[in-house]
Amino acid sequence: MESLILPFFIVSAIVCAFIANRMAGQRGRNRDLWIFLSILFSWLAILVLATIPTQTPTPAGTRRIYCPRCNAEQNVAHNAPSYECWQCHLVTDLNVKH
Ligand SMILES: [Zn+2]
Repeated sequence: MESLILPFFIVSAIVCAFIANRMAGQRGRNRDLWIFLSILFSWLAILVLATIPTQTPTPAGTRRIYCPRCNAEQNVAHNAPSYECWQCHLVTDLNVKH
């Protein structure tokens, strides 16, 4: 009986990795990260992935930034030196080179 425990966990990890890969893809999440987490935490990672909200992809040439004041989600161009929050109109400087 003892000899079946290790194969069970290996098969379980492989099945979880396949499910995580598929679910992460459908939900706009990082596939590699969720495959890794599902191998590490097995069904628990699948459960977490099933409950967290779907992340919609950002338009081409933009990245997702959260306003430091109101936490509103923004799509900002990759090369933009600053942006104005659409919600609270706070202007945030993105130029990290001083
Ligand atoms: Zn804001």
